Amino acid sequence: MAGTKKIVVLGGGYAGISAVLALQKRLGRGEAEIILVNKHDYHYFTTWLHKPAAGTDSADRPKVDIRDIIDPRKVSFRKRDIRRIDTAARTVETDEGDIPYDVLIVALGGEPETFGIPGLAEHAFFIRSLNSARIIREHIERRFAEFRSDESRTELLTFVVGGAGLTGIEFAGELVNRIPELCREHGVDPALVNIYVVEAAPTALPGFDAGLVEHAMEHLKRKGVVFQLGTPVKKCTSEGVEIGEGEFIRAGTVIWAGGIRGNRVLEASGFGTTRGRVAVNAYLQAPGFGDVFVIGDSSMVMNDQGRPWPPSAQIAIQQGEAAARNAIALLRGREMTPFRYVHRGTVASLGRGEAIGSVGRCKVKGLAAAILKTVIDARYLYRIGGVRLVLRKTAFFPHQSR
Ligand SMILES: Cc1cc2nc3c(=O)[nH]c(=O)nc-3n(C[C@H](O)[C@H](O)[C@H](O)COP(=O)(O)OP(=O)(O)OC[C@H]3O[C@@H](n4cnc5c(N)ncnc54)[C@H](O)[C@@H]3O)c2cc1C
Repeated sequence: MAGTKKIVVLGGGYAGISAVLALQKRLGRGEAEIILVNKHDYHYFTTWLHKPAAGTDSADRPKVDIRDIIDPRKVSFRKRDIRRIDTAARTVETDEGDIPYDVLIVALGGEPETFGIPGLAEHAFFIRSLNSARIIREHIERRFAEFRSDESRTELLTFVVGGAGLTGIEFAGELVNRIPELCREHGVDPALVNIYVVEAAPTALPGFDAGLVEHAMEHLKRKGVVFQLGTPVKKCTSEGVEIGEGEFIRAGTVIWAGGIRGNRVLEASGFGTTRGRVAVNAYLQAPGFGDVFVIGDSSMVMNDQGRPWPPSAQIAIQQGEAAARNAIALLRGREMTPFRYVHRGTVASLGRGEAIGSVGRCKVKGLAAAILKTVIDARYLYRIGGVRLVLRKTAFFPHQSR
């Protein structure tokens, strides 16, 4: 393939896989070499991670082998840890050598944003990968076991979720479903368990309809969740969290879901970033780098009000397709198309059989919203892996397969 142009896609998450699928579909035979580079040899559904983290689903379900998704005749896959991008030399530096590129699509996702809050990085857990989900699940189970050996330490049964956005609320929804089972297994009185959701903003689930947010909060409160809204987390220690005006919650587990920043590789490579995210131009290119597209959680795209769209799987998938189209246009010397995000609505799950969501003008809650979430997930599975993947991964009866 000497002389063939190389389109290199970094990251095999929602944005990267979407870009690769569009490239393999649209590029003619021999027109360009497509290379996908990812840390693991599997793609995982980040939007499902709150379930294995709480222990209400298996760690295997959100995972699919990358080779089951891509067409190996058209895409070569490299399992590598990406360290830096050398834009002058047009190479990607990895743990196993450099990979040259002609056009680069960076889709490396995000990292937890701790806003400099002391102690969070050291003492809190973050839901960000399959491995982190496994660690959280094991930690929660260990806390119950530790309590059984010293029942004076009730703080071991206190859980603090920092952040009442999609991730924090979805995790709290799963945790309240897992607690009764853990209490039964360990012979613990459920009344001793405390779950707090602490949020600096005055409301939970920003961007959702106020009535739906109320429904979500009422549902979680009924299951025992205590909300502390308009209350910033000030500090995290091995003993718990300091919140608001000096109140301290003693807790055995702190999960931080308060924000996302871009992947550190972008800053390390000299791209201009705001909280690690690259404010891309209309074609999704990094400003000043015509051969580099940045998409997904590492990018920033403005809405009509001039504010950044919150990072989501939905925008990542649409950006993947758009970046692939523009990368091909660039190679062919054609005009590129500006990216326009079409927001189709969002659904937040609140645990088994319960969710809220809005699609267009339609608002749904309860079981109908939970079914809608399953349909959205199934649609994604169908797109990347056809009926076979839908049947393998769809959790119609989520608690059967743990
Ligand atoms: C618990 C939870 C629930 C969520 N729920 C929703 C939801 O309901 N709806 C919604 O729209 N969004 C939701 N989100 C947000 C959504 O998951 C993200 O916005 C989305 O995953 C972004 O896609 P991405 O492709 O940018 O990043 P990712 O999907 O995170 O993919 C990044 C990829 O890059 C790889 N990578 C990273 N660094 C390196 C490196 N140095 N070298 C090699 N590979 C690397 C990673 O392994 C990964 O495969 C949720 C997020 C969480 C955590």
